Amino acid sequence: MKFLLKSCNKSLVLCLVSFFSLKTMSAEKPMVLSTASMWNDMCEIISGSLVQCDFIVPIGSDPHLYEPTPADLIKVNKADIILINGLTFEGWLSKLIDNSGTKARIIQITKGIKPIESTIYHNATDPHAWMDVENAIIYSENIYKALSDLDPLHREEFHFNFQLYKKDLQDLHNYVLNVVASIPLEKRVLITSHDGFRYFGNKYGLVLEPLQGTSTEADVQTATLLRINQLIKDKKIPAIFIESTINPKLIEQIQKENHILIGGKLYADSLGDSTSMSNTYIGMIRHNIDVIGSALRKEFNSSEADQKENNSFIYFWITGFYIFCFYSLYYINRKR
Ligand SMILES: [Zn+2]
Repeated sequence: MKFLLKSCNKSLVLCLVSFFSLKTMSAEKPMVLSTASMWNDMCEIISGSLVQCDFIVPIGSDPHLYEPTPADLIKVNKADIILINGLTFEGWLSKLIDNSGTKARIIQITKGIKPIESTIYHNATDPHAWMDVENAIIYSENIYKALSDLDPLHREEFHFNFQLYKKDLQDLHNYVLNVVASIPLEKRVLITSHDGFRYFGNKYGLVLEPLQGTSTEADVQTATLLRINQLIKDKKIPAIFIESTINPKLIEQIQKENHILIGGKLYADSLGDSTSMSNTYIGMIRHNIDVIGSALRKEFNSSEADQKENNSFIYFWITGFYIFCFYSLYYINRKR
């Protein structure tokens, strides 16, 4: 696919766009393209179908490792505005924009949030700002303003929709706070596949222990695995979590080694598919916190491991006792 992208020059893109444009002549609405499904959802809600909303990284795909397709070139070329997260989230985007020949305005919807500095990379920031619901209100306000600039005649409708949505987001923020408050303090530890929950953890008071960093490109360190295994034992963490866009193999390995639970599947870098309750931003955050809350409130279930250890101990002494009896009888009989 990389080869296809490299070989696509701007004139070819324009030909493709012309072809597809003929098929969609009836579509007069402005086109707003989002890089990810989370803010595409916000765009759909705030625009109230007065604009066309679409997004680039498909549901369930990992945006950190995404490789754009020729179809993305067409979308980018046709867009009037492109809503991006920035903060190094879309490393593949600038080449896509250059190759597309688009005239779209690029709107960074994280403008106004306070980024979290990377603890690993110098001068880098954690991109996952939408995971803090109060930040999502800032994202939504930026989207409302971008839509109003794009289509000033519908500013009032956009404003009305934004205000309703803002209220829903404030309710969601309070809901998350309440669920976290129901988890015992020492159990508020979130072990996930990658560091996509730092904003979420910082805002709502969860300690983060991810296997990978803010991007999924680097390999998991052995030292990290050892530290997490020790933490589970020390703090008696009852559950760990897989993520919808990341291979769960390592999380499953940790779960088996420690005889604990997989608490459930969390969504960070993509919404869930259309059949799930996580197919909206609000649904995704609500699902995440419900799964986290119900899993971390459970007792640490190491009983299986403890039982095995106890059984081995009992078998050892019973076997020893029988061997002792056998040799004692043998010795007594020989004496006779
Ligand atoms: Zn991520």
